Amino acid sequence: MDSDFIRGVEAGLEGRFREIDDVSFRNASRVLEAFRRNRVSDGHFAGTTGYGYNDTGRDTLDRVYADVFGAEDALVRVQFVNGTHAIACALRAAAPGGRVLSLVGGPYDTLRNAAEFDIVETRDGLPDFDSIEAALKSRRYDAVFIQKSRGYTSRPALSADDVGSLIELSRRVSPRSVTVVDNCYGEFVETKEPPMVGADLTAGSLIKNPGGGLAVTGGYVCGKRELVERAADALTVPGIGRECGSSMGQNRLLYQGLFIAPHVVAQAVKTACFCAGALERLGYATAPGSLDKRGDIIQTVELGSPEKLLRFVRGIQAGSPVDSFATPEPWDMPGYDDQVVMAAGAFVQGASIELSCDAPMRPPYRAYLQGGLTYEAGKLGVLSALREMGEL
Ligand SMILES: *Cc1c(COP(=O)(O)O)cnc(C)c1O
Repeated sequence: MDSDFIRGVEAGLEGRFREIDDVSFRNASRVLEAFRRNRVSDGHFAGTTGYGYNDTGRDTLDRVYADVFGAEDALVRVQFVNGTHAIACALRAAAPGGRVLSLVGGPYDTLRNAAEFDIVETRDGLPDFDSIEAALKSRRYDAVFIQKSRGYTSRPALSADDVGSLIELSRRVSPRSVTVVDNCYGEFVETKEPPMVGADLTAGSLIKNPGGGLAVTGGYVCGKRELVERAADALTVPGIGRECGSSMGQNRLLYQGLFIAPHVVAQAVKTACFCAGALERLGYATAPGSLDKRGDIIQTVELGSPEKLLRFVRGIQAGSPVDSFATPEPWDMPGYDDQVVMAAGAFVQGASIELSCDAPMRPPYRAYLQGGLTYEAGKLGVLSALREMGEL
């Protein structure tokens, strides 16, 4: 019964999986080309301590990232404590002390205090181009902000082309506003990255997609050279900028993680599709649908009741390689109105390129699932959740 069900789900996904493999192949070849062009060599893996002057491994990795993302320059640092920190430095570079217009709903929760945001809400979950144009005409914004991923909203993720259309509009109406993209969860899901569709600055976390599951901490910013320099000043100190910041033995993992990231992201996207396909068969509402195009690695499922939601999340935890014996409990997370329950059985604390799941305890009892270092592990996690729900 289990194996018939699984075969049925996967048969329905064959075409999608081929497309995902194709995206992964094209991204992998772009990454390999960047390694070759920058002559990556094992001397780059040694790294530095202390101030980190002349860390050629670190500086070469910056150029590799720039090439992979189609940007003039990049700053890849373990000194970024998380994605929020990298994005906040990008915002400080783009709009020092100024106002920022967030084009597609509000920024991610942890970024709310990172700048003075004005917000254009979405209309039926989609970018509201008319309201964006009106807002851009109403005053001068130093920067505009675009979050590619859906984050913890109910709107769909933006595609790279959606991001491009928003940047085009901003350029036309407000040419002096710097365009900043929060690319968390978006990297390598498509073959185009935000700098390739015109973003001035793009930022994200290394314990999500581009770290390939190997990076243990850090973040990146990439884009126009002068803006990347300013982001480095925001990270350290004006005048020191990118010259300081030792890599502390992490270089090899950052290179190797980037090298496998296109494949690992494909595994996470397949896991998301499998989750959607399985739950659709069982009659649950999913977003995106199992066959929909994707702009990020997040899958949501409406479980409909607090009991089912808890069972789903607990099943994901039980199907994880680390802390499989732990029982997730809802808790009052700072900054949230409702209790939140989370499953995270990861090798790297909080790494959500590894299979993980979070959910606010409120109707429609929607679970947000993402990650999966291997499709096999992701599938096992989803099956564990279905078993815990009594569906298998
Ligand atoms: C994860 C994430 C961030 C940053 O989160 P950190 O936990 O600080 O790495 C920002 N925006 C989005 C859309 C995210 O998914």
